[in-house]
Amino acid sequence: MTSLVFTGEAAAFGDAVSRFAHAMHTPDSPPSRQMWKQAADLGLTGLEIPEEYGGGPGGYQMNAAAVQALGTCSHGTSSSFTISFDIATPYLVRFGTQSVRQRWLPALAAGEAIAALALTEPGAGSDLAALSTRADVTSEGWSLSGAKTFITNGSIADVIVVAARTSAQDRVRGISLFAVDAASPGLVRRSLATIGQPDCDTAELFFDNCEVPREALLGTLDEGFALMLQRLPQERVTSSIANLAQTDVAFDLTLQHVSERQAFGRPIGSLQHNAFRIAELDAQRSAVAAFLTTCIRQVAEGTLTTADAARAKLLSARLENDVLDLGMQLHGGSSFIEGTEINRRWIDGRVTRIWAGADEVMLHLISKDLGL
Ligand SMILES: Cc1cc2nc3c(=O)[nH]c(=O)nc-3n(C[C@H](O)[C@H](O)[C@H](O)COP(=O)(O)OP(=O)(O)OC[C@H]3O[C@@H](n4cnc5c(N)ncnc54)[C@H](O)[C@@H]3O)c2cc1C
Repeated sequence: MTSLVFTGEAAAFGDAVSRFAHAMHTPDSPPSRQMWKQAADLGLTGLEIPEEYGGGPGGYQMNAAAVQALGTCSHGTSSSFTISFDIATPYLVRFGTQSVRQRWLPALAAGEAIAALALTEPGAGSDLAALSTRADVTSEGWSLSGAKTFITNGSIADVIVVAARTSAQDRVRGISLFAVDAASPGLVRRSLATIGQPDCDTAELFFDNCEVPREALLGTLDEGFALMLQRLPQERVTSSIANLAQTDVAFDLTLQHVSERQAFGRPIGSLQHNAFRIAELDAQRSAVAAFLTTCIRQVAEGTLTTADAARAKLLSARLENDVLDLGMQLHGGSSFIEGTEINRRWIDGRVTRIWAGADEVMLHLISKDLGL
């Protein structure tokens, strides 16, 4: 059972994406290029792209229904697709020059190109303003030098939105964003071995005097940090939807197991300690779903605040991990045997309390909103 309820076109789209994702999912490798093409045929990859570039936006409800469907399949599947269509692509749509839009949007909508977003660096993750990748002016445009790490789709993407320092005068002002063609000379990529989500690519990127044209600049020079702040709330709601989808799956798996597994002559779910713990998490799940439903509407209306996005991200990631942890506990010894569904999802889910802003960063944003 899924917690978020969609209606009309969004519900039908979510069903179609769910059938597609479950049919095409390859548990041990990132989505194939064929899968990207099929996602495009469904309209998934063009959800944020204007019609004139081959897309077909239907509003954020459609994104949300799709993310829930992908998230129910696996975290890796939702990360792979959402980073491209919902998170990186909007930077090109909203801030790209005409040349960037023409170069990338039709290919992204058609599933012929994949996008990534490269903000994090070995020395700057939570504190993004500390990033040190440089973009120096050249006669043709820019030359990028530095490194990025933990980049979803990093080694398979065709276009990468990269944050780099263009001015040293101020920590926050002085960062700019670039649409970098992954085939640019001077860019080397290496996949990272992760403990979970084998169905998603995570990579590090090395820029060594990587030349990008003048038109690759996204938005205004030195104002990239403000653009990131503008886009991060949607990213966090999107990741919260995937978190809740995983929560639902883990919850159902656990409920089924505790209803069937017997100990002391009765189903372990009927032992009061377990029944109450499950009931508590169920109540929290309903509350997170209700709050997230409001956030989804606010993303669609353009009224979502940074603090509410942080609340959704914090609560959904914690809830997911609490449900997964209880699921592991109640599956007993079998949960520790490699490859069972509950432990695979438990490993995949742990990173949700770290990526897209760690729990502590969410708490920082919420406490700032409270004037603390
Ligand atoms: C699988 C995966 C995929 C990712 N995908 C992308 C991507 O596509 N693009 C991208 O740019 N990045 C991506 N990231 C990076 C991710 O956003 C960062 O890992 C995250 O922001 C944390 O940064 P860090 O790892 O450098 O940890 P650090 O910044 O070193 O923080 C380490 C820990 O310190 C604590 N901490 C941090 N700040 C505070 C604070 N203010 N108060 C108290 N404690 C604090 C937290 O517990 C945090 O986990 C991905 C990461 C992973 C693991």
